[in-house]
Order: sequence, then structure tokens, then C-alpha cells
Amino acid sequence: MTKWVYSFGDGAAEGRADMKNLLGGKGANLAEMASLGLPVPPGLTITTEVCTYYYANGQEYPDTLESEVNQAIAKIEKSVGAKFGDKDNPLLVSVRSGARVSMPGMMDTVLNLGLNDETVEGLAKNSENPRFAWDSYRRFIQMYSDVVLGVDHYHFEELIEILKEEKGIDLDTHLEAEDWKELAQQFKAKTEEELGKPFPQDVREQLWGAIGAVFSSWQIDRAKVYRKLNNIPEDWGTAVNVQAMVFGNMGDTSATGVAFTRDPSTGDNEYYGEYLINAQGEDVVAGIRTPQNLTKAAREAAGATLPSMEESMPEVFGELADVFDKLEHHYKDMQDIEFTVQRGKLWMLQTRAGKRTAKAALKIAVEMAADGLIDEKTAVLRVEPAALDQLLHPTLDPDAPRDVLTRGLPASPGAASGEVVFDADHAEAAAKEGRSVILCRVETSPEDIHGMHAAKGILTARGGMTSHAAVVARGMGRPCVSGAGQLRIDGKAGVMSCAGREVKEGDIITIDGASGEVMIGEVKTLQPELAGDFAKLMEWADSYRKLKVRTNADTPHDTSTAREFGAEGIGLCRTEHMFFEGERIIAVREMILADDLAGRKHALAKLLPMQRGDFIEIFKIMRGLPVTIRLLDPPLHEFLPREEDEFEDVAKAIGASVDHLKRRASELHEFNPMLGHRGCRLGITYPEIYEMQARAIFEAAIVVEEETGETVVPEIMIPLVATRKELGMMRAVVEAAAEEVFAEKNHRVEYMVGTMIELPRAALQAGKIAVEADFFSFGTNDLTQTTIGISRDDAGRFLDEYVKKDIFAQDPFVSIDQEGVGELVEIGAERGRSTKPDLKLGICGEHGGDPASVEFCHRTGLDYVSCSPYRVPIARLAAAQAALKD
Ligand code: PEP
Ligand code: MG
Repeated sequence: MTKWVYSFGDGAAEGRADMKNLLGGKGANLAEMASLGLPVPPGLTITTEVCTYYYANGQEYPDTLESEVNQAIAKIEKSVGAKFGDKDNPLLVSVRSGARVSMPGMMDTVLNLGLNDETVEGLAKNSENPRFAWDSYRRFIQMYSDVVLGVDHYHFEELIEILKEEKGIDLDTHLEAEDWKELAQQFKAKTEEELGKPFPQDVREQLWGAIGAVFSSWQIDRAKVYRKLNNIPEDWGTAVNVQAMVFGNMGDTSATGVAFTRDPSTGDNEYYGEYLINAQGEDVVAGIRTPQNLTKAAREAAGATLPSMEESMPEVFGELADVFDKLEHHYKDMQDIEFTVQRGKLWMLQTRAGKRTAKAALKIAVEMAADGLIDEKTAVLRVEPAALDQLLHPTLDPDAPRDVLTRGLPASPGAASGEVVFDADHAEAAAKEGRSVILCRVETSPEDIHGMHAAKGILTARGGMTSHAAVVARGMGRPCVSGAGQLRIDGKAGVMSCAGREVKEGDIITIDGASGEVMIGEVKTLQPELAGDFAKLMEWADSYRKLKVRTNADTPHDTSTAREFGAEGIGLCRTEHMFFEGERIIAVREMILADDLAGRKHALAKLLPMQRGDFIEIFKIMRGLPVTIRLLDPPLHEFLPREEDEFEDVAKAIGASVDHLKRRASELHEFNPMLGHRGCRLGITYPEIYEMQARAIFEAAIVVEEETGETVVPEIMIPLVATRKELGMMRAVVEAAAEEVFAEKNHRVEYMVGTMIELPRAALQAGKIAVEADFFSFGTNDLTQTTIGISRDDAGRFLDEYVKKDIFAQDPFVSIDQEGVGELVEIGAERGRSTKPDLKLGICGEHGGDPASVEFCHRTGLDYVSCSPYRVPIARLAAAQAALKD
């Protein structure tokens, strides 16, 4: 028979940390902590299988669930010495969700469950604190009504405000027992008015209502958005944790807090966290009161006046520090912890691996390996490749002038500039138009997730380092400044102000998530520092990976950046990209619009020295590393002149009339340029183009070999090949150019000729094509476009919907469609190698920098991946992890 409920408490538990799939992260770790003998309030976990069952069976529970829950509640009652629903000595519980991986702020929590008009009196008597009891009851009514019954919490906030006004009081803390009692009555009446039925007094009804609400919340929109953004499968489900309440709001010897065993922002090995005296549950994360520091050192560093926990509760702090050490040694990872102190007694409410910035992840992994807590392989596996992105982005130039508007908390590192927007929907819309925005909010909530994702940075006026904005931004790798308390944000009016200065929606600001500064205007940024922990971890990663990592680079500048990031060669130099600027584009247009061979040759003669010059620089920067140069593959529409002045420029350069050029351009017009006269089709019809390019490459190689004495082995790549014949003909053009140049210069260089595999036919015919090829490079951008039949240029309009509807788990242009496009890559690789067992294989589509695709390439046995310069470290780490997972 399936067991649906697992108990924990009193130094024992039925579950374990490795049962996360069944118990959810929270439940599994509560069980583990209980087994470790840590002070955990007793409780029960309803498994994720119940959630799955619930959705598979028309929202019904398994038959035996209720009796299992009852038995587990009885155990809690025994442990605590109180009874659920008992009017003299009531047991109160919290009900919380807990999926396999943490989903911050996504799911709902109910506290103080078990209170009703009778049990509240018992609580008042036992706690000898009627104010606390009535405050707890009204909190419960408020939370339960909101989360379970769907009565919005503002109704209740309003009633509190009205009462405070009547009594001439500013602060909630000045309300007394009678006031909370009065409010509890009003709250119940409000709920009844909204729902047409009374607030439930039966504690079992309350419990099942809350359990049902947790399961339902798995399917609310913001949970779905979060899962989508984080690739969490819909069918994982959530567990429900029911746990005896402990109270951090029982007076000045009580407190509640969140802590990390190390600094999650910098990775420094220091306890880090915040707490609030006399507060309950989510008060710390909600950002309603400003939390106090955990340690004295942190308080001093922050210049805060309110005492740290280390100072105000030294004994409990000492106990907490012991728990931190015990947990870190047990889990061998940095932990994120929630705790409560009830009248001087410490209780642990949660532990989990702490979310951290990439910088912290690196530092923690490297230090833990150095301390022998984990080995090097584990360290390499600990850092999420995609998260490196955060480190590889620019920081503010310390010497750049800056006009600081205000300062907040350095909640998530990185610097970003952009237009001010005050609303998540606006942020998303602006980002879709390609604008950079900074989302500025009083505080953020899960409803803002899509806007936070779209923004370049996030700024909030309220909330601490563990506020929603801070936690989510760190997870997403967005720079974030939180709790900029001087800032008055009036989103409705479209303006924020600080110290007499105003910033309007649309104005540019810069935020520095490392210092907490908020600046007016754009501030110059610097490239990241790649030494230290980063270099160390990369060195370890490089020792495990099998795949080589090259870069896609078209300019000397990109090439240098990529080398700094550790690229081991160029996997794709798109020669058409070398022609985008100024004079060059005119010469290219001249070539394209030429009426005949003579006109084309005239234009090509202008392009030759430009190409040669670039190749010389690139070969020099790459110093003997392989360089794959792809011959021209210009989707024509990207290169034809469009505007009047563009026609005029070309007309002037070649002495033709604008009218003539326009006619010529309209002759060249294509209905489907992506499937048009591009790639090797251009070389087949105008071989002189490829001939010029081959000449430029060989001349450059000879110059560099003669100047530096180093060997240069260019890899010349023919694009968009569908048949063996195409490649054979283009190969002949390249070879002829080579022989001509070698004879002229009396200097031979070694070289290779290969092809891109970016059409389904090429993948299928790879066995034959390989006869003419020294290497293959899978062009998975075009291969995706042509396999799925979705235009690279037009997919944006509908692909979102495809992902939302789960037709594709992810955008196939971002992460390779492993079963479709991937199968063609496998076929191409296998057939190519059956002709030439040592055929060199790589990938140069955008997928080369996507961790999941890199893993796929590793499994498929490719020799290298090639990606944009900034993603080279991501690919290096992903390749190492793929190898370690073998
Ligand atoms: C490809 O198609 O994957 C590729 C790398 O070429 P391009 O993106 O230039 O078409
Ligand atoms: Mg292509």
C-alpha cells in the first residue's frame, strides 16, 4: 500500500534528505534535520505523489490519506502536549508547500491554523498573553481568507487602518489585545460578507482547506511562470508540510530570522542573515520592518544601530552558529536557513542549499574543495554554467564619473543601465522592442517575475537582502539594488524622487548591484576580472572536459575577447559580418548589385585587401590555434540597400544611377531570402567571390607565417551545402586559388576544406559529402530552421506560444531540439565518420553556448563546440560537467 504521509520530530523522522522527489525539498530536509537531532518542531509531510494523484483523479485524494494524516497529527499532539482543536490547550500548525526544488514566493503558506473563537481563548490563557493570541488569530483569519478562501488581503489591511485612525495610532504595535480581538471579529464578518458563508471554525475543515489550497496553488499562474522560466516539469507536483507552530512573536525573547551559512552574494565564509525580534513568519522576507543583522561584524560593517542577534541573544546565537556548522558539514554545501526563537528556545524551520550569485558559487566551490569538504569534481559540478553569465558581464568603471542619486542594498551583482519603468508589463513590452529597462518598484512580488526577467536590472525602495526582489534577482542573475529607502516611487504618476530630485519614466539610470548605488544617466562599464576563483574552477573544468571549445568571432575585437575567455580556436568566422560597416558595406553592395562579372570583380578587388587585413589580425591573435573561416553566406535581404541615401552612396561609389540600382535591387528581390540565393549557391553562381575570399585567406596566412614564424592552418568552410557535388566544386575553386597564391608567393601553407552541415539533406548525405570534406561543422541555426520548417526571422511571433503550450519545452533556436534536429546531427556525425573515421566534427550554431546542447554534443561525440565569446566559459564548464556525468 502506498504511504502518503511521513512524520518527523523528536530526533527522528520517516523521511530523509535524499527523498526530495517524494517529500519535496522542504519536507526532506525537515526530516533530515530532525534525524540529526536538531530542534525541529514536529510535523508531517504529505507526499508529492498525493499532488499527482489529486490532479490525475479530478482533484480527489487517495482513500487512506485522511486516516494517515490523523495518525500523524496525533503524533504531533503527543510530542507537543497539546490537542488540535482543544479549547484549553490547542495545537496550532503551519501548512506550507514544498516542491522538489525551491520555488521562492511561488506557493502559499498558512500560519496559526487551528485557531477559532474557542481555541484563541486557550492560547491567550496558556501564553498569558491575550494580545499575542488575538493578534495570531486575526493574522490567521487574514492569511487563511486570502490564501485559501480568495478574499484579498487589502480588505483586512483597510480595516486595520480604519481602526488605527479611529484610535489615533500610527503603529500596529500600539494596538492592544482588545483591538486585535475587535479586528478578528471584523475580519470574520468581512470574510462572511465576501463569501456568503462564515469563516470556518472547525479546525479539521481549516486543515483540509489549507492542504487543498497548497495543491491548487501548484497550478496558479505565477507558479506556472516560475516553472517555465526554470524548466521545472509540470508533473513534479508539490508536497504539503504540516508542522507544529512555534512563535517568534511572543515578546522580546522571541525572534524569527533567515540566515545563510556563508555570504550568498560574495561567497565569503561568514554567517550571514537577518532577524527580527518579536516577529512572525514572513515578516523578515516581506520587507515590512527593516530586519537587523545576525552578527556584530555585519552590523558594524553596515553602520547599523539596532543590535545584532549575536549581541542581543548571545546564547541562542551560539546555538545557531553550532547548527550552521553542523548543517554545512552534513550537507557539504552552503545552507539557507529559517529559524524561530520562541521565548529563548531555538527552532529550525527550514534548511536548503542556498541560492547564490555566480561569484559566490565559484568562491564557495573553490574554498570547500581547498578545505577538503568536497573534491574538485564536485566543485566543478556545483557551479551552474549558465550562471557564469553574471560574472562575465561588465561592472562599473571605478573612474567613470557618476551622479549618485541614492543608495540601497547591494542585492545582486552586476551593473546595468536602462530606462526607468515602474511596471512589470511595461518592462516586458519595452524589452520586446529591444529597449534596456530598469524595473523600479516599491517592492516586488511574484506577479512581477516576467518584468524582472525582461529588465536589465531591478531597483526597489523597500525590502532587505532576503526580500523577494533580492532572492529572485540573484537567481535570475539580474543586477539588483533593493531597499533604497530614500527613494519615493510613485509608479502611477510615472516618477520617483529622492532628495529633491526627480526621475521620470523613460529617464536613463544605472544601478550597481555590487555597491547598491543608483545613478542618474549611463555610467561607463568595465570588463570582468577573470582571475582568482574563476580561473581556478575553469582550470579544473578544463582538466575534465573532452569537448574543445571554440568561438564564433568575426572581428579582431571579438577574437581577443574570446581568447581571454579561453577559446581554443575559432569555429566560425562569418565573413559577411566583416562587411557590415561604413566603406565595406558599400563595396559589398556594389558587388551584389553589379550587372556582370566585370562589375563584380571590380568590387571584389576593393574587398580583398580589407579581408586580408582582418584575417592577418585574427590569425595573429589566435597564434596557431585553429581558425575556421566560412566563405560568404549573406542572406541577401540583410545586405541590399533599403533607404534612399543607401542607394545614393552606392550609386556615387560606382558611378551608376540610383534608378538603375533600384531596378537591379528589385530584380534581386527574393520572397524567401533565408532559402534563397545564399550560402554556396552564391559560390556556385559567382565562383569569383569565393576565389577572392580564398585568396585573401591564403595571402593572410602567408603574411602571418612569414612575420611570426608560427604555422597557420586555415580551415575553409563552405556554407549551406546540400550535395556532394556542390562541395566538390567549391573545393576545386579553393584549391585552385591556393595553388595560384602559393606559386605567386613561393610559400605553401597547410589548410583544410570542410563544410557546414545545416540542411537535412546534408545530414542524410553526410557519408557522401564527407568524401570531399576535411571537417564538418553543424550549423544548427539553419538546421533547426530547415528541419522544423520554422523561419529564423519570423519565429519570434509565434514561438512563445509554442513554448507556453509545451509543444517545445524550450525555444529550439536556443536549446537544441534533441529528438528532431538532434537526430539529424547524430546521423550526420555517424555517416560522416563512417566515410572518414577521423573526420573533425563541431557545432557552430547558437546552441554551442547552451549548456544542455553542449551536453548533447558531448554525448554525440563531437570534437568541439563553438559559441559567442561571452559564452565560451559557460561552454567550457558545461562540457566538463557533461564529461563528469558520464
Ligand atoms: C547556422 O546556421 O547554424 C550557422 C552557424 O550559420 P548562420 O547562423 O550564419 O546561418
Ligand atoms: Mg547557417
